[in-house]
Amino acid sequence: MTTSEQLFEKAKTLIPGGVNSPVRAFRAVGGSPLFIKSAKGPYLYDEDGRQYIELINSWGPMILGHAFEPVEKAVRDAIQYSFSFGAPTRKEVEMAELITAMVPSVEKVRMVNSGTEATMAAIRVARGFTGRDKIIKFEGCYHGHGDSFLIAAGSGAMTMGVPDSPGVTKATAADTLTAPYNDLAAVEVLLENNQNQVAAVILEPVVGNMGCVLPEPGFLEGIRSLCDKYGTLLIFDEVMTGFRLSKGGAQERFGITPDLTTMGKIIGGGMPVGAYGGRADIMNQVSPAGPIYQAGTLSGNPIAMSAGMAMLHYLNEHPEVYTRLETIGDKLVNGFRKGLQKAGLNYTINHIGSMFTLFMTGRPVSNFSDAKSCDVPLFGRYFHAMLDRGVYLAPSQFESLFLSIALTDDLVDQIIQANEESLLEVIK
Ligand SMILES: *Cc1c(COP(=O)(O)O)cnc(C)c1O
Repeated sequence: MTTSEQLFEKAKTLIPGGVNSPVRAFRAVGGSPLFIKSAKGPYLYDEDGRQYIELINSWGPMILGHAFEPVEKAVRDAIQYSFSFGAPTRKEVEMAELITAMVPSVEKVRMVNSGTEATMAAIRVARGFTGRDKIIKFEGCYHGHGDSFLIAAGSGAMTMGVPDSPGVTKATAADTLTAPYNDLAAVEVLLENNQNQVAAVILEPVVGNMGCVLPEPGFLEGIRSLCDKYGTLLIFDEVMTGFRLSKGGAQERFGITPDLTTMGKIIGGGMPVGAYGGRADIMNQVSPAGPIYQAGTLSGNPIAMSAGMAMLHYLNEHPEVYTRLETIGDKLVNGFRKGLQKAGLNYTINHIGSMFTLFMTGRPVSNFSDAKSCDVPLFGRYFHAMLDRGVYLAPSQFESLFLSIALTDDLVDQIIQANEESLLEVIK
């Protein structure tokens, strides 16, 4: 047994399923998860001393590579002044200033500790502001593990085959209406049939959590105008896409202005941070400015703010990061396509910037049911073949890959080579 396997056996006796977040358990690809000891730049190192090229990057935050020096230094500098005060700090003001500058639709922002907290708070605010109870979400979109969102949810919920979790009450589920992604007509029907009842439409403006799925031309614009027509707020869940698809997120890239935005992942530079924000008139309803309650003992934590701010500062001041990510993304995806054609496999690659998914299906993937047409066992074999060649992919067909600027051209070539060899191995 490897050290990772030993640790996993022990973990399973102490932690449900041996992990603190389901997808990590490798159930969707089979086998035993790697226990990670350290990481630097483009590389992960496991407890068995093996090295892997990173294509997940902590599910997004490590967009500049692991232990990026300016972020590491900011954390080191901050630590000497104590770790938490539970009182306001200068850093929170600077962080808010930075976020509102980078994402102009966010006029006011509140810091929380995870993406889940951000989305839970955002719908509470939407409900409080509009006086309406229902929300619309899309099948296969994941917005964290809040009760209201565990209805036709993506990511781990999809991988584990439990889209509707026990413990979510019928009353909660009844307030969550769902539509297929990219289906404007379905949204219009829901809004028409639930007039003056829908507080918000929440979506991933580019989906990462059923694999990478792009909005079709006109979809985001259409949702924006339907929301305006029915007095419903539009919430962009940019926990994944924020600061990744451009420095202003998907909303900058697609030129759509949501009413509220949720953020996470990159915003903490690897520390547990989330945020929600948007129109000032809406955010002014949040306590103590207004009556909608939301709080957090460790929210705006000074160490977390230091890491996040160092990361956002760097992204804000180095637009070449995004150009480089586009180049790496294009090069990798083109290389993958060549390998796939050589192997003669039916496939679909969805790609935007530094996010992409190789779907093991010949069908175009523009929603949840398309994604479910994938050959999941084939993906599992491919995943392990890549792992054997030192490339760490997301351990599920229904996730996006996340690139970092730590990937050199040489490493990109190595990944392309590993992809071709892995595909030829798994089709045998
Ligand atoms: C990861 C994710 C979340 C949840 O964030 P956590 O920090 O894991 O709670 C919410 N929405 C989207 C789009 C995500 O990708």
